[in-house]
Order: sequence, then structure tokens, then C-alpha cells
Amino acid sequence: MTDSLIQELARIVGPAGWTRDPDRLAPQLTEWRGTYYGKTRVMLAPASTAEVSAVVRVCADAGVGIVPQGGNTGLCGGAVPDESGEQVLLSLARMNRVRSIDPMDYSLVAEAGCVLAAVQERARVVDRLFPLSLSAEGSCQIGGNLSTDAGGINVLRYGTARQLVLGLEVVLADGTVWDGLRSLRKDTAGYDLKQLFLGSEGTLGVITAACLRLFPLPAAVSTAIVAVDTADKAVELLSALRSALGDRIQAFELISARAMRFVERHIPGSRYPFDRAQDWHVLVDAAVGADATGFEDALAKALANGLAGDAVVAKNTAEAEALWRIRHSISEAQKYEGASIKHDIAVPIGRIGEFLRKGERVIADAMPTARPCVFGHVGDGNLHYNVSVPRGMPEAVFRERGEALTEAVYRLVGDMGGSISAEHGIGVAKKASLARHKPAVDMMLMRRIKQALDPAGILNPGKLI
Ligand code: FAD
Ligand code: ZN
Repeated sequence: MTDSLIQELARIVGPAGWTRDPDRLAPQLTEWRGTYYGKTRVMLAPASTAEVSAVVRVCADAGVGIVPQGGNTGLCGGAVPDESGEQVLLSLARMNRVRSIDPMDYSLVAEAGCVLAAVQERARVVDRLFPLSLSAEGSCQIGGNLSTDAGGINVLRYGTARQLVLGLEVVLADGTVWDGLRSLRKDTAGYDLKQLFLGSEGTLGVITAACLRLFPLPAAVSTAIVAVDTADKAVELLSALRSALGDRIQAFELISARAMRFVERHIPGSRYPFDRAQDWHVLVDAAVGADATGFEDALAKALANGLAGDAVVAKNTAEAEALWRIRHSISEAQKYEGASIKHDIAVPIGRIGEFLRKGERVIADAMPTARPCVFGHVGDGNLHYNVSVPRGMPEAVFRERGEALTEAVYRLVGDMGGSISAEHGIGVAKKASLARHKPAVDMMLMRRIKQALDPAGILNPGKLI
């Protein structure tokens, strides 16, 4: 990356659109877990699709790699440049306009740098719901959400980012702009090109805008926490509630006893919702409209037939928020317990109980005193199968032995028809594991697609594949 190239790029984006100031760069070159550090000689923040296109064209001509970055909450090294300093960091943060919103069409066009919470709020103003919701929503951006196919708490009812996108605008590896910003619900004219870019972690194109699907705002949401003896019963409970209430069950989050204990121990103000300690808990949101009796009747039936051991329904918004705070605090609470290994895996929903039983044995074999801290999104089969360091074990030893543990967990996931990555993306963190655990034909097809769309390998080099 020569000085004259940097000057040319700076001219494209104007004085407000670039920086080399180490203090401004520092937070963009690492992630809050502090696991990945990168370097760059320049960060560019274009303000329009035309500027992104011009930047990519210049970089393509010079053969310089580009690392797109949204809110930098992906936590797998995907949005951070490598240590060479020779890659351009491309922040989408200044492309943060909602270009249009059409309540009748139930759609909205947002630029890639819009913060997720701002898009939710913009939809709410016109009485519509943009249902993508995750703990990082105050800082993650639409472009990052789509590039990692983010899920979150409402996947059960509304699907992941993939299902929430109607159209895309993407700058391709040679700078060409693909304008696929349509709001069509059905389009059978050839390949569904947008799906290629969703979940591709910036390796096939730079997403600059998206047409997003909106929904009616649910009149009211009722929140309950339910105790169950086993994870199998949690899955059965989900099935029973869905039979009773259809798609109105919109969130169904599993929390293990250990995850609960960590929150009680470390998060000030948290209160355990039951009188006695329970093995498993599920946090449920149901869109109930004006009348929550259907939901409460279904819970009462589950208590009567032994599916549920206990249940607490939030009486007001404050109580609902307190229950959700427990769920959202687990990651933070786990940090206070020392180092952890995180597996964001998915298995078929019906096999979650079996996976957890087998997983317990796998972990006990690999590291008998390790402390699994399990929680996650039962509705989409996506579990945070986290493991905290055994008490007294030095972190270096834990990390070293943890590699074999992770391999064993991933093998089990594979044997059960699951995926080793259902959240956060692959980035650099799971790149080697992906190559080992994804079927060879899948990898071959992915490489061919990468080769076709980015033959010079300038888009997010070294990430994903
Ligand atoms: P970044 O981290 O900036 O980037 C992620 C990847 O996308 C990188 O590879 C980057 O190069 C690429 N990228 C970014 N913008 C673009 C663009 N415009 N065009 C092309 N490529 C781009 N994920 C879930 O699925 N469900 C959850 O419930 C969930 N909860 C989370 C909770 C917390 C507290 C945190 C920190 C993360 C959570 N995540 C969750 C991870 C999730 O992947 C990210 O929060 C979010 O989707 C990433 O958005 P971002 O803007 O921060 O992207
Ligand atoms: Zn999650």
C-alpha cells in the first residue's frame, strides 16, 4: 500500500472519510474480547455507494485487500485486518441512512452502516416491526448482521437475517455495483443472487444497502420463565406451546442451571425467579394480543401434565425486562468465572436433548473438571455450548487442552447433522475447523464461488475460506 495509493483513496472519500490516527484506529483494530489484533495504514469510511465502488475499484487495480467492518461485534476476527498493515479497513459506519420506508409494502431500505437498533426504531415509528434482535443491537450494523446471517432471539417466529432480506445492493470485487434492491416477495427469474452475499462475511462483495422485510407490530408480548427437568422436556414444551399458539411463540431460550448460577453470582441486582434451584429454564416470549389467557392456559397445561416443573409469568414490562436481563447477562457473568471456550453450534431441534447428553460425556472425557455453561436459542437449534475453565487450572493449560475438547464437540455436532457455526460467523477463529468439518464438496463449491466472484482474492482475504 503506497502513500500515493492512500492519497488517492483519501481523495475519493474526502476529509471526513478516512483516518490514520492511531487513537481512532485502535478500537477498530481489535475486538472487545481482545482475542484479535490487526494493523492497517488507513481506515476508510465512505459515505455513499459510489464512494465504496470507487474505493474497491482502486484497491482492485492495486491488488490491495479490503476488510469490511460494521459494528465490529462479530468476535471471530472477521472484521479485523491482518497484522501486515497492508489491508484497507473499510468502515461502513457513515452509510447510515434509512433510504426509504414503505409501511404498505412492509419493507424498508437501509444502508449497511445503520445500527440495528436504529432500524428497529425507525420501523416502530410507522407501526411496523423489524424483528431481528440480539444483545449487540445497540452497536452491530445491518451490513454486519447480513454478512453473518445473524439470528438472535426472534428467529423462531421470523427467521434469521436471510429470511428478513428482500433485496440487496452490493459492490462487487471489481467495483461494479449490483443493484438488487427489490422488495419482491417472489422472483423466480434465475438464481437468488442475494443469498450468496448473505452470510458470506465480506468475502464476496461489500453490502452497501438492503431492502428489509417488516412485520405488523405485535399488540402485546407476554414473557414467562419456565423450569423443566431436562433439555428434552424443553424441546417438548416448545412443541406443545407451538401446537397451542402457532407462530405466536416468538422466543424460546434455554438456560442451564450453571448459567443461572453464574448470573446470580456476578450480576448485581439479578434475582433467581424460582423458590428452589431448577435444572433447566426456558425464557418464552409469546405475542398474545389483548388477551394472554391462551398462553397462560398452555403453560398451566404443561404444569399439569408434568412437562414443566414451575413457571413464572411476568406481570408487567419491568418484570419481563428483569427476566430478559438474566438471559442477556450470561456472557458477561461467564467472564467473571475465568477463561472459556465458546462453541456456537446448531443441531436439529429435535436432537438438542440427545446432543446435550452426549456432549456431557464428550466434555467429561476430554476434561473431566471443565464446567459446561449452556444456553441458547432452542427455537433455531442454536446453542451456546460454552465451557468454563476448571477451577485452579492455568489458562494456558486450559487453552491447549481445549483444542482437543473443541474437536471432540465438533465431531459430535457433525455426527448429529449439525453445524459448527451458527452465530458470529467463521472469520479466522473457526476457519481451520470449517475446512475440517464441512463436507469436501461443500468446501469445493464455496471455493469455486469465491474464485468466480473475487478471483484476485481482495475481499476480506484470509477469512472464512
Ligand atoms: P462486524 O463484526 O463488523 O463484521 C462481521 C463480518 O461481516 C466481518 O467478516 C465483516 O468483514 C463483515 N461485514 C461487516 N459489514 C459488512 C458489509 N457491509 N459488507 C460485507 N461484509 C461486511 N449473532 C447472532 O447471530 N445471534 C445473536 O444472538 C448474537 N448475539 C450477540 C451478542 C453479543 C453481545 C455480541 C457481541 C455478538 C452477538 N452476535 C450474535 C454476533 C453477531 O454476528 C454480531 O453481533 C453481528 O451480526 C455482527 O454485526 P457487526 O456490524 O458488528 O459486524
Ligand atoms: Zn446467541
